[in-house]
Order: sequence, then structure tokens, then C-alpha cells
Amino acid sequence: MLNAQERDQKVPHPVLMPKLNEPLLLVDRARRLLDDARTVLVLTGAGVSQPSGVPTFRDAGGLWRNHKPEELATAGAFAHDPRLVWEWYAWRRGLVADCEPNQAHHALARFAALHPQVTLVTQNVDGLHERAAADLDRSLGEAAAERAQPLALHGSLSRIRCSKCSYAADYPAVVDSTSLATLPKCPDCGALLRPAVVWFGEGLPTDILEAAWRAAESADVCLVLGTSAVVQPAASLANIAHGAGGQIIEVNPVETPLSVISSVVLRDSVELIVPAILATWQSADAGFASTPSPPSELPVQELERPGLDGR
Ligand code: ZN
Repeated sequence: MLNAQERDQKVPHPVLMPKLNEPLLLVDRARRLLDDARTVLVLTGAGVSQPSGVPTFRDAGGLWRNHKPEELATAGAFAHDPRLVWEWYAWRRGLVADCEPNQAHHALARFAALHPQVTLVTQNVDGLHERAAADLDRSLGEAAAERAQPLALHGSLSRIRCSKCSYAADYPAVVDSTSLATLPKCPDCGALLRPAVVWFGEGLPTDILEAAWRAAESADVCLVLGTSAVVQPAASLANIAHGAGGQIIEVNPVETPLSVISSVVLRDSVELIVPAILATWQSADAGFASTPSPPSELPVQELERPGLDGR
């Protein structure tokens, strides 16, 4: 008969052992799926920015000075009171400027920069993927940094566009929202400039949507990171990838509607798990399976309008 110490050494604890091994096994499984992939779609949401300290609308009750986001993030609100809308966005731009890209942003930027068969799509407007990509310019060069730029479905807080004409640009400067006169004006037509984010009731940028749709249709693996996958078009994109035979890898601390169709589900922080999954793809030597399959035609109109989230 074994004493307690011998028993503990010889017989793994029936409950504890699988729990200890599970995350490593799942990370390994995710890596093997990527190994076999020819094309990868990465879809990110608020959970990727959370470790960087980016607040969401739902923090602090989702209100700003008693205004709901739905009352401020609309073209109607901007037409009615552009100064108030700009004050809100100036505040949010300031909050985001104080945040830094985290390890997940950096790992994803290198992943996309080094492997052209990777498409990075984000719902986030905070610009942290863009900043992680820009950081690569110093180490990998301009072309690689450009490849790491995400398709930003809902636009970016750091960009502006004209409320009348087609002018659009990066706008890192502080916006002075003290009066109508101090708000930024279009250099081409003189109309008010507005944040280059997709507001409630507006359609997503067609070119970005088409590129994301093509990537979803041809993705062998779809990495869904830190998004509840209930906001459109993120849910549609993952479902398109799954419907076309792609495998879903989900990283999210909580269950989502995509969990049931996912091949691997990792219930942990995106900042911890993503660098672990992508560790072997942080150099250009890491290979994917052979040539990507050509994209097919895209019925973009089937994608639904965006839902409520942080824009
Ligand atoms: Zn203009």
C-alpha cells in the first residue's frame, strides 16, 4: 500500500492535472491550427485594448455628462451641436493618448507585418494597433509597418474627415473645443472637420468592409480576440470564415455566441494568450502552409449595420 506521499507522486490528481495542463494544450492546439493554415483572419475587439487601460462606454455607467453615446456619436448630434460632440471626442482622444499598446498589440503587429497571408481587422477606434504597427517601422521598415496596419472597421479616433467633402487625414493635434471658432476646419472646403469614426446610423467604409469580407471568406483560421462577437459585422465575419470551412480560435475570458463553433477556446487574458500563441510567428522564418486560395466574389450588402459599441 502506498503512503500519501508516494500516492501523490505516482497518481496525478484526477481533477487538478487536467486543469493545469489545459491552457498549455489549448495554446499548442491553436499553434498547430495556425501551422496548417494558408490564410489567417484576426478579428479584435475591446478586450484587446482593456489591458492597456482603454475605457469603454460601459465604464462609469456608459455616460458622459449625462449624455448617452447614442446621443453624441451621430451625424445629427454633430449637426446640432458640433462643439459638444468635439468636446466629448477631444476628451476620449486624450484618454487614449495616455494608453500604450500592450503585448497582444505588439505580437499581432509583428505577426501581420511578417506574414502577408494574415489580415488584421479591428472594431477598436483607439488606434493602438496602428501605433504598434508604427513602432515596427524602426525595426522592420516602412513596408512591414504598413502591412501591420489594421482594417479599422469603425474608423479611428486619431483621424479626422470633412463633414462635407472627401478630405480625410491623420490628426494627432489636440482639438480645442472651447467654441465653434476653435474647432478644426477643412483645408479644402472650409467646412467643419469631424472625427473619422463610424457613427450610429452610418454605414461602414466599403473598401475596408470588402477587404475584411474577402479575408473572412478565404481564411483557414480566424482568430477572434477580445470581442463579444455580438456586434456586427464582427459576428458576420467570423461566421463567414466558419461557413467557408475556417477554424475559429477564440480568446476571451467569457463565453460568447462564437464559443460553440470555435475549434479552440481560451478563457484567459488576451494580453497573456496572444503572445503565447504567436510566439513562433514572431520571425519571418516561420512558415505557413502553401499558397493562399484566391478570394471569391463578395456579397457585401449581406453584412448588417454595426451595433452599439465604442465608436
Ligand atoms: Zn471639406
